[in-house]
Amino acid sequence: MTVEKMEIDTLVVGAGQAGVAMSEHLSNQGVPHLVLERNRIAEAWRTQRWDSLVANGPAWHDRFPGLEFDDLDPDAFAPKERVAAYFEAYAKKINAPIRTGVEVKSVERNSDRPGFTIETSKGVIEANRVVAATGPFQTPVIPPIAPDDETLTQIHSAEYRNPQQLPKGAVLVVGAGSSGVQIADELQRAGKQVYLSVGPHDRPPRAYRNRDFCWWLGVLGEWDVEARQPGTEHVTIAVSGAHGGHTVDFRGLANQGMTLVGRTQSFDDGVVTFESDLADNLARGDENYLLLLDAADAYVARNGLDLPEEPEARHILPDPECVTHPLLELDLAKAGVTSIVWATGFAVDYRWLNVNAFDKNGKPQHQRGVSSEPGVYFVGLPWLSRRGSSFIWGVWHDAKHIADHIATQRKYLAYHDASQRQAEDDRKDRPDGTSPYSQVQNVSTMGVS
Ligand SMILES: Cc1cc2nc3c(=O)[nH]c(=O)nc-3n(C[C@H](O)[C@H](O)[C@H](O)COP(=O)(O)OP(=O)(O)OC[C@H]3O[C@@H](n4cnc5c(N)ncnc54)[C@H](O)[C@@H]3O)c2cc1C
Repeated sequence: MTVEKMEIDTLVVGAGQAGVAMSEHLSNQGVPHLVLERNRIAEAWRTQRWDSLVANGPAWHDRFPGLEFDDLDPDAFAPKERVAAYFEAYAKKINAPIRTGVEVKSVERNSDRPGFTIETSKGVIEANRVVAATGPFQTPVIPPIAPDDETLTQIHSAEYRNPQQLPKGAVLVVGAGSSGVQIADELQRAGKQVYLSVGPHDRPPRAYRNRDFCWWLGVLGEWDVEARQPGTEHVTIAVSGAHGGHTVDFRGLANQGMTLVGRTQSFDDGVVTFESDLADNLARGDENYLLLLDAADAYVARNGLDLPEEPEARHILPDPECVTHPLLELDLAKAGVTSIVWATGFAVDYRWLNVNAFDKNGKPQHQRGVSSEPGVYFVGLPWLSRRGSSFIWGVWHDAKHIADHIATQRKYLAYHDASQRQAEDDRKDRPDGTSPYSQVQNVSTMGVS
């Protein structure tokens, strides 16, 4: 479908959960808008995740307020295809003006008139505002330490689909956030010898005293925690909804045969070196885990809730051999390692957004998504306003704030002072309907904040 020479007030780029949420709130505010998606709605959930992935949060939690997963038990974890179908259904329900199969190639501020010119794969658009909803996880990142070794199969977690994809032999999984630990677990269950490189992480209990950790983070206000120190806001969180949901327990995985190692440091001539931080990283994860139990117990007591006690949740397994005597080096060939899965995260890619909204490191500069370039917004980024910002339920709230901001700016621009109002009235009385303030009217409908 062509979008040639289209004009729109607000253009939203990307139709994942962030773009769909933006559309809902812009519609509620009466802001004319269009959402462009280069692939399909919720494409990331369809093609950029492994086959067995289910949502990390239960169906009652990982959703928008306006629609439930009515075919699922509220405590179940939706399979990834179901999550994609959910957002497709949501977009239909709110009648979101989404055009799929249209890629935004570039956004430039106009020098001679208000607004932006947007080049797309299907034509040119003029818009007053642009919302970048292209996701927090755009470009898979493999660190430069990755060995240049053709005998090894190396993939990023975004390319991982299932154990059959990997060659015979042992595997090193680098990174033990939710993706790394779930992939390592799946590979081990498939009978592979797995080495899991574990860095610093948070490790909440899947559930405690009959409540999922999503509930605990909600009632304890943890989802709403704002980023504290720039640069220290992100610690990977190891949770899993797989197999009905369970607490990630690294020692338990080791007891089942997985070899835990510290952070991967370097590769040299077929030998990989690990940092000696494994025990510290596990201890930090335990601390985070126990703190949540303490806070939960205090909440139960404070509110007089009748939730069953669960003292066994405080039992931490003894350190296995691989933790007490950690491997600091591994000869990959001797250990039979034939593949590496890099579960090392993603970067953003805003090369298409040629505006002044980035710091010197290319990081978006914004306050709760309102960028330093007037008229440009970001939504869906981790810690955009709070811990929940890049998660399904959290992005919906950030999108509301941004839509409110856009609507408020439009209201300011629509304001006419007394002389303008008088001129308006005069114009209505004129036979040709012209106004001396036609230029001002144009700005009020096409201007940017
Ligand atoms: C493995 C994994 C599991 C996760 N599980 C959960 C979970 O269980 N619960 C939860 O709350 N969160 C989860 N998340 C986090 C988050 O919910 C997802 O990453 C989610 O997909 C982010 O949504 P988004 O709309 O911000 O970005 P995306 O889903 O990535 O959507 C962005 C869209 O923009 C499109 N796009 C990009 N560039 C352009 C362009 N130039 N022109 C047009 N379109 C473009 C893309 O095609 C894409 O469809 C998970 C993340 C990962 C990586």
